[in-house]
Amino acid sequence: GCTAQDIASALRAGAAVVAEHRDELIQLDREIGDADHGENMDRGFRAVIAKLETAGPETPAATLKLAATVLISTVGGASGPLYGTAFLRAATAVGDETELDGRAVAAALQAGMEGVVGRGRAEVGDKTMIDALAPAVESARNAAESGADGAKVLAAAAEAAHQGAQDTEGLVARKGRASYLGERSAGHIDPGARSTALLLTAFAEAAG
Ligand code: ADP
Ligand code: MG
Ligand code: MG
Repeated sequence: GCTAQDIASALRAGAAVVAEHRDELIQLDREIGDADHGENMDRGFRAVIAKLETAGPETPAATLKLAATVLISTVGGASGPLYGTAFLRAATAVGDETELDGRAVAAALQAGMEGVVGRGRAEVGDKTMIDALAPAVESARNAAESGADGAKVLAAAAEAAHQGAQDTEGLVARKGRASYLGERSAGHIDPGARSTALLLTAFAEAAG
């Protein structure tokens, strides 16, 4: 099962992938936003890693909650509160379990997505991180129902998220800064959908 240590490792892998793709995320956001998504995410995940080292959370929920709190207070922009809410809802969903099986991982992912929807009111097709998260949640649920463990559930989620992020290229943005561009937002991948796909891949690799 997936322990607090495993979640901490996943967050470290997430920080690494965000750092590695910082310039790419900045470039995507330059095309349809304000060119800060890579910087926002890199700052936030660095702060999460720093806090993990000093705080040493002992349960999955405490680890996810730490990530939520740090992301909300350091990322800024639209994505900070949205990612923060996702981790906070995931923390609530795992409750006091000490080890998460595939179903618990899938449920946490779903709760996270519901938090983002509750806060940002985006629907599938609005060209946001929801376009990566929604297919990820569905694939995660299917994998969990066929008995997959947490790592396999995350791998299924990551694969679907990448396709979802890729598919934002053709969409016209209806939420966030990119929506100010109207039709001109089409032809570019949404930065938040891309960061969601990258994070899920990192989490899956750390878990596997
Ligand atoms: P900002 O746009 O405030 O500079 P970021 O650049 O960090 O913030 O994040 C932009 C990303 O946030 C977008 O690419 C999109 O995926 C996501 N986003 C923006 N608004 C919403 C929303 N209402 N619901 C879901 N995701 C959103
Ligand atoms: Mg931005
Ligand atoms: Mg901004």
